[in-house]
Amino acid sequence: MAQLTFETLSFREKDDIIVVTLLRLFTTEIPKEELEKIAPFFVVDTHTISFEKLDEEKAHTKFAFLLEKYFQKLTNKLTGNHVTYINKASGIPLIGNVAFGIVYRGSSIIEIKPVTSCNLDCVYCSISEGLSSKKNDFVVEMEYMLEELDTILTFVKEPLEIHIGVQGEPFLYADVDLLIEKLQEKKLVHTISIDTNGTLLNKERIDRLAKCDKLQLNLSLDAIDVDVAKKIAGVKSYNVEHVKEMIGYASQKLKVIVAPVLTMGYNEDQMDKIIQFFKSLPKQPILGIQNFLRYKTGRNPGKEMSWEKFYALLDKLEKKHDITLRLKKEDFNIRKIKPLPKPMEKGDVVTAVIKCQDRFPHSVIAVAKGRNISVPGVKFVKEKKIKVEIVRAKHNVFTGKVI
Ligand code: SF4
Repeated sequence: MAQLTFETLSFREKDDIIVVTLLRLFTTEIPKEELEKIAPFFVVDTHTISFEKLDEEKAHTKFAFLLEKYFQKLTNKLTGNHVTYINKASGIPLIGNVAFGIVYRGSSIIEIKPVTSCNLDCVYCSISEGLSSKKNDFVVEMEYMLEELDTILTFVKEPLEIHIGVQGEPFLYADVDLLIEKLQEKKLVHTISIDTNGTLLNKERIDRLAKCDKLQLNLSLDAIDVDVAKKIAGVKSYNVEHVKEMIGYASQKLKVIVAPVLTMGYNEDQMDKIIQFFKSLPKQPILGIQNFLRYKTGRNPGKEMSWEKFYALLDKLEKKHDITLRLKKEDFNIRKIKPLPKPMEKGDVVTAVIKCQDRFPHSVIAVAKGRNISVPGVKFVKEKKIKVEIVRAKHNVFTGKVI
């Protein structure tokens, strides 16, 4: 008999299927008859499945094969959207796409993106992420992410910041606390920053995270009035009181930056109240008010405020409250470092292999020379070879067109 235990997977029986949940957020369903074909089986506990009359190695190989098949149908519990799971065996590199993996722009901040998905639906979201999203989601296995990051750190050989800046809410990634702990151990990492909407934090979690003294939380807070906050967050269950409490608590333990987005027609009148809230805290976090900007891929609820008007408003608020409201260069400590080798340049023609759907429909991710290339206007056919002309290659983020 073979017992297979997985930390990142859980199993639940439902009629004639087994519901498999990955990292608490993503699910797929395997028909029991498919599992029976491996061997008679039973679910031992949430994380363990057992196969009779099979040695462990065989059971592992056969189950991994089945899992890979049904992970093609992985969906996000929050939205029902399709999810692509990326591990080393997927053959999908972690460099080349801005939505997942590693984005290294030749500066001392390396972005890592282990997941896409958000539990809010903010009116101003620049990437249209959240509960109403219809996009394909990605989730990256933590070990794969760390392995690839190590390769880059070995290449760079300089101290730098790792920024967990995902398209969505990073605390939805069940392994994020562990990921932060692992990053804390890395000698070349001097800062770990993470952008979060704060809804999934609690005091115990902050206490645990605060053991990582390299960690910096970048939190959102767009309003103080409950109804305005709900309207901006786009979900009725948004609890601004909880987020305020977390900001107050985290600021006493960690470096915290709060960056409200001033969105015309929504929260101009909230800035005064946000500043007053900050001034009431025992330890004030850094406050940096941002101007809402329209993006092609964003949810654009209105017009942008002109920069002239925006800065005039900041001047007025800074004088009135005797506070700094602009983030300074020193808050980020960014410098240039050597760029990663770029295996393809704009204009190159390469043969690439389609590996998965891209974020948007009718677009695929194809792989060539160890990089991902987003190729729009192509039907997804796994492992199909296509000829692609590279039309964008900046910072090792690639877009191509089929020729
Ligand atoms: S919390 Fe961030 S990612 Fe989520 S919907 Fe709001 S702006 Fe978008």
